[in-house]
Amino acid sequence: MADSPEPLDFLDVDHLLTDEERAIRDTVRDWVGERVLPGIETWFEAGEFPLEVAKELGGMGLLGMHLTGYGCAGSNAVSYGLACLELEAGDSGFRSYVSVQGSLCMFPIWKFGSEEQKERWLPPMARGEVIGCFGLTEPDAGSDPGRMRTSARRDGDDWVLSGTKMWITNGSVADLAIVWARTDEGIRGFLVPTETPGFSASDVHRKLSLRASVTSELVLDEVRLPGDAVLPGVTGMKGPLSSLSEARFGIVWGSMGAARACFASALEYAKTRVQWGKPIGGFQLTQRKFADMAVELNKGTLLALHLGRMKDEGRLSPQHVSMGKLNNVREALEIAREARTILGASGITLEYPVIRHMNNLESVLTYEGTTEIHTLILGEALTGLRAYE
Ligand SMILES: Cc1cc2nc3c(=O)[nH]c(=O)nc-3n(C[C@H](O)[C@H](O)[C@H](O)COP(=O)(O)OP(=O)(O)OC[C@H]3O[C@@H](n4cnc5c(N)ncnc54)[C@H](O)[C@@H]3O)c2cc1C
Repeated sequence: MADSPEPLDFLDVDHLLTDEERAIRDTVRDWVGERVLPGIETWFEAGEFPLEVAKELGGMGLLGMHLTGYGCAGSNAVSYGLACLELEAGDSGFRSYVSVQGSLCMFPIWKFGSEEQKERWLPPMARGEVIGCFGLTEPDAGSDPGRMRTSARRDGDDWVLSGTKMWITNGSVADLAIVWARTDEGIRGFLVPTETPGFSASDVHRKLSLRASVTSELVLDEVRLPGDAVLPGVTGMKGPLSSLSEARFGIVWGSMGAARACFASALEYAKTRVQWGKPIGGFQLTQRKFADMAVELNKGTLLALHLGRMKDEGRLSPQHVSMGKLNNVREALEIAREARTILGASGITLEYPVIRHMNNLESVLTYEGTTEIHTLILGEALTGLRAYE
């Protein structure tokens, strides 16, 4: 028989990875240990995202890492997922930064952009010199973004954009905003340099979740753009939705990183915290919590790996991603909440990572399609009947 399983990788998922995937995973894990964990409590408490640290992500090839050419690393989907997992084990804010930059901003340029747009924007974005944001959600259009009001009209050769976007990650620190707007031809994506007159961004304050991440409102007041600012390769909701599918894939993995961090923290605590004369990890009720958490953590990680292999084989559909996002974020949040109970009163402080991850996961549950919307996407895929409108 083999040795007793390793608590943090009970099913030996490590064995299912290639040497290259393991090397990328270890590099990101080490970087998170050196650059994220020492500062994250301070940044979270102050409500700041350390852009100077994040710029290093470009140097490691993590920005747009699953894209090919134009200075992107061209890694496989599993490697990208593993990077997301390790980053989110640090904090969801860092995984969000990488998801927004690589999947929500670079992917649509890479997939739907002109050659000039790709050459101009992708290399500096891959290096982290140009920061992107993705403007889809509006104050009155969240789960149903197709009803957006932001519009773009032609004026001679130019486009003129007007509208408001809400809850936009990196909005006020971005150099380039990908803005989705209604046109006479349908919804189109626009590349908006944020120094363009009429563009402004202000931050959302008093957040109790994803505090180490910038969230902004964008206002576009008659923003005039040249005719070639539009993404030529897509019209309609396919543009933003396909980008969201890419980012959701990262969440399927990342959420398991947050869950693993909570599990590890509670496990350590339960072995040393003594009540009734023995470590609380020795009580049956605590062990049941760990057993349940370990089952979901391992199932979720295997699901992420399975979806990653399907993506690398070109067999992954948006509905598969919905299943992964629905399950893994829901279970990660349950693991975080259960871990929090094991830490008792200590679990409500920032001395331990658990409540930070728990609060972050509330945002992750909502953004990139809420739990309810992914449930309805699965419902439609299973029954053929659409229930969300
Ligand atoms: C921290 C953070 C960062 C974000 N970053 C970005 C970003 O970078 N870019 C961007 O464009 N957006 C971003 N978002 C916005 C996010 O995508 C939206 O919040 C999300 O789509 C939900 O929209 P809403 O908040 O308006 O909720 P609503 O759509 O108003 O939903 C409220 C509730 O109603 C439920 N609901 C809605 N429709 C149905 C239905 N048909 N059946 C049953 N229940 C339903 C929802 O599931 C939810 O529970 C971010 C959000 C957060 C919190």
